[in-house]
Amino acid sequence: MHSMKLVNSLGSEKEELRRNPSGKFSMYFCGPTVYNYAHIGNFRTYLLQDVLVRTLEIDGYNPCVVRNITDVDDKTIRDSMKNGVSLADFTGKWEKIFHEDCDALNLRRPDFEPRAAEHIAEQIAMIENLVANGFAYAAADGSVYFKISAFERYGALSNLENRQLKTQTLGSGGERNLVDEYDRENVSDFALWKATKSEDGENFWPSPWGNGRPGWHIECSAMAKKYLGNTIDLHSGGVDLKFPHHENEIAQSECANGEKFVRHWMHVAHLLVDGAKMSKSLGNLYTLNDVLNMGYSPMCLRYALISAHYSQQLNFTPNSLVAAKNALEKLRNFAKTFQQKCPPQRFEIGEWKFFGAAFGALMDDLNTPECLGNIFKAMNGIRGEMRQQSQLFGEFSTIMYCLGLRLTGEEKSVEIPAHIAQLADARWRAKISGDFKESDRLRRELQTSGWLVSDGKDSYALTPLR
Ligand code: AMP
Ligand code: ZN
Repeated sequence: MHSMKLVNSLGSEKEELRRNPSGKFSMYFCGPTVYNYAHIGNFRTYLLQDVLVRTLEIDGYNPCVVRNITDVDDKTIRDSMKNGVSLADFTGKWEKIFHEDCDALNLRRPDFEPRAAEHIAEQIAMIENLVANGFAYAAADGSVYFKISAFERYGALSNLENRQLKTQTLGSGGERNLVDEYDRENVSDFALWKATKSEDGENFWPSPWGNGRPGWHIECSAMAKKYLGNTIDLHSGGVDLKFPHHENEIAQSECANGEKFVRHWMHVAHLLVDGAKMSKSLGNLYTLNDVLNMGYSPMCLRYALISAHYSQQLNFTPNSLVAAKNALEKLRNFAKTFQQKCPPQRFEIGEWKFFGAAFGALMDDLNTPECLGNIFKAMNGIRGEMRQQSQLFGEFSTIMYCLGLRLTGEEKSVEIPAHIAQLADARWRAKISGDFKESDRLRRELQTSGWLVSDGKDSYALTPLR
């Protein structure tokens, strides 16, 4: 039986994922910080992880997925206090919204979705273990730090080996790292436990070092151990988590457990918008709701976000939703031609006749763009009587399951008012005749009227702005 091959971001080699004949294939994904809407960049990562899990499931790996909920950290505490509500009420509301978005995008729920605030005891136990074995130390204020000089392999995942690590230890008087997120220029001992401060309000727990709360990194180490054991088969997150979060997870888990933490790392490259990092201040941050308000369905967004390879940055433009909508329409029309005629039938994996190349692309480093290309290639070669075969239906629905593309329901079509269509048409004609001044003027006029024009090679698309 062939195996899934995936590039391991620790070492960058393409490796086979080892099957676990007697048990489950254990996977841990770093989950959302529930203090605001998840944005479409977050969903890119969750969606590609979802395609991985679905493909592994179809291929008999028996995956078991843990994805945590970060409900205690600098941001959740800050914003719950700002809103004058309890941390649990505040994060509960955002967790519910996150789940609604996930359901709309047809993301499978993980097998376990533990909340950090409900696993304080496990986190304290792991910190106690690290202190007892000389990997961590308590400072005078009651905070506890991980001593990175005590872990030789620190930095292997993000190639920090040749850097001068600042390893300030207790009593040195130097500044230690109390913030959860920091960059490579600020490598230093990081907080496992943070002594309570006035701005934390009521959000603290008792511990052997006094009242406080866990640092961000320890939650994943403690919850991965509880639900999946000391060594997990695959761990994944967006590329921004490689350093420091995943580096710190490795250090904590390997020092506390004395065993290898993760067999295989997978990092998803970032989603950019108009070539730039998404951020509220640039005004280019999109949520699922924003995409729905532009007149596209959650499936359109799903298609657009999975259509590029996970290791490549993806530049999101409204045009990619137009392309996704057209592609989904083709898949839907194809499904309609045979769905009524054959009863759904479970397809036996390994006997592909039509969509083997598409599935093969997923099994080879989760190549979603090649998979989609191969689906359309195969569809073009399917003629009349072949559509009667239940095998074809079985294969098609299996490959749609892997990609998580739900084909029921129609796309909501965008109504373009006649005067807008006329303006857009005039702009296109000005553009192709070389009158760029006029075409720019018309583009601005359209934008003021609430419509974005994006040009393709031979045509243009109109997208309503929010
Ligand atoms: P957060 O809620 O910020 O902890 O992020 C949740 C997940 O989304 C993590 O795996 C991040 O690495 C990932 N992520 C954050 N921003 C982006 C982005 N622009 N593109 C892809 N993934 C992202
Ligand atoms: Zn994590």
